Amino acid sequence: MPDTNALPEPLSIMGVSVHPFESYRHAVDCIAERIAAGVKTFCLAINPEKVYRAGRSEEAAGLLGRADIRICDGVGVALAARVLCRRRIVRCTGIQLFFDLVAEASVRKWNIFLLGASQESNELACRNLLERYPGLRIVGRLNGYFEDSAAVVNEINLARPEILFVAMGSPRQEAWIIEHRDALAVPFCMGVGGAFDVVSGKAMWAPGLFRRTGTEFLYRLLKEPKRWRRQLALPLFAAEVFKEKLSLRG
Ligand code: UDP
Repeated sequence: MPDTNALPEPLSIMGVSVHPFESYRHAVDCIAERIAAGVKTFCLAINPEKVYRAGRSEEAAGLLGRADIRICDGVGVALAARVLCRRRIVRCTGIQLFFDLVAEASVRKWNIFLLGASQESNELACRNLLERYPGLRIVGRLNGYFEDSAAVVNEINLARPEILFVAMGSPRQEAWIIEHRDALAVPFCMGVGGAFDVVSGKAMWAPGLFRRTGTEFLYRLLKEPKRWRRQLALPLFAAEVFKEKLSLRG
């Protein structure tokens, strides 16, 4: 019998393994098979910032290592795959995968739970998703500003979702999922950063030109200049890729 949960052979980008899906459809199909088989899966979006931090902190590397699926979210990761592994890999951004999974959930009748963002944004995001996908089963939602994680886990488990989307920013959302993953009776979990704010209209998704060219980070920097410190990781990551390439040659 074929292994229905098979993921694409991972590629190592500066020590972080990434699953090179051929398309969003490919990723959604793999996830659907794992949900059907009841395989608990934590999906994490890999961008240059996370790879750079993983090279510097064991804790950050540990977080990435705990994921079952690591998608190639950032264009820098795809470029690094080309430079270091001579592989053209297709980007699979977290936010687009979130939208595709929501669409798939409405067809397959998966139950979904939305955890994160402010109360207002979370509520509005749910309303907008239900308007767009009337058959969507949102079995629960909670904002991302809570004290009692055990109560949140309990509420999620009682709602019995197939998918839990956590929109609390990185690395907070990943750390929260990992800390509670054993207690969470949910087949598929994924951190989706600011996705609920985009759905609620509180934040803009990067316009098409930025998305097509993989330069969403520039758009983000223009909109929120205070993120410059976080985005310093991008040139530092590029410098490391360059160094690694030189050392491979030598
Ligand atoms: N957020 C949250 N709980 C917190 C801190 C942040 O739910 O304790 C939410 C915040 O309201 C926003 C999202 O997390 O909706 C962060 O989005 P961002 O785009 O900054 O995510 P990142 O780029 O860090 O993945």
